[in-house]
Amino acid sequence: MGPHAALPPREAQLSTATPPAGPASWSDRWPGDLASPTTPVARDADEVARLASNAPTADHLDGRVSVCRACPRLVAWREEVCALPRKAYAGQRYWGRPVTAWGPARARVVVIGLAPAAHGGNRTGRMFTGDRSGDWLFAALHRAGLSSSAQSVAAGDGLELLGTRVTAAVHCAPPANKPTMQERDTCRPWLVRDLELAQQTARAVVVLGGFAWAALWPALRQAGWGGVPAKVPVFGHGVEVPLGPDGGAPVVLGCYHPSQQNTFTGRLTLAMIDAVMARAAAL
Ligand code: SF4
Repeated sequence: MGPHAALPPREAQLSTATPPAGPASWSDRWPGDLASPTTPVARDADEVARLASNAPTADHLDGRVSVCRACPRLVAWREEVCALPRKAYAGQRYWGRPVTAWGPARARVVVIGLAPAAHGGNRTGRMFTGDRSGDWLFAALHRAGLSSSAQSVAAGDGLELLGTRVTAAVHCAPPANKPTMQERDTCRPWLVRDLELAQQTARAVVVLGGFAWAALWPALRQAGWGGVPAKVPVFGHGVEVPLGPDGGAPVVLGCYHPSQQNTFTGRLTLAMIDAVMARAAAL
């Protein structure tokens, strides 16, 4: 577990006083913020590739991700949302920056989502935290023994991921939850470096939804993982793609995204997500 859970809850984040405008700064001491004034800022795709590939540790990687400004449309959107909080969150300070991966770098289970939600991760500064998708995900992780609590409320709330790292194909909240292909590809080197750091320990990669599924395969290949099929396997819930030399771990597991669209309609049920998480935990 990184420094995220070690820090106390941030009272200002929950304050009803009018928060300062704009995204969080390193000087706000947001729980888990690993950036400093000297953290290098990527301003285009080439700089993302360079700063990701030479990040020596996961903490360096997360710090660099958290200040990235390589996608102009997403930078504008994530910061604009800070000034337009939902009524339920009026008075809360929004993070408004890229949301980093979360959990130990050398994880046994890696979970990959699509992108942070505008009023979820983009508000709380922690992946999948503060929205209904996260409610489903963390409850399932907890039932599988992969998180210390079923509830993920805010950065610094004390929740710990257990041998699990949660990340996304795209680190900034996109308008309508739809990143462009160019934005996905620009963000890929951050995922590649995460996968390089997890390569020795990962037994399972749980992929939430088809967007992340498509993003994963070139990233795995670039990260030097073995056993990656030449043709991208077809995504489906419960699909398993073993990458190990003996047909075993590490295994890529497909899971429908716990979006409200999927959970409200019953396309994804508790039993379905539990089956995937239990399988990941057992590998
Ligand atoms: S989506 Fe990724 S590459 Fe684009 S600005 Fe955000 S962190 Fe940087």
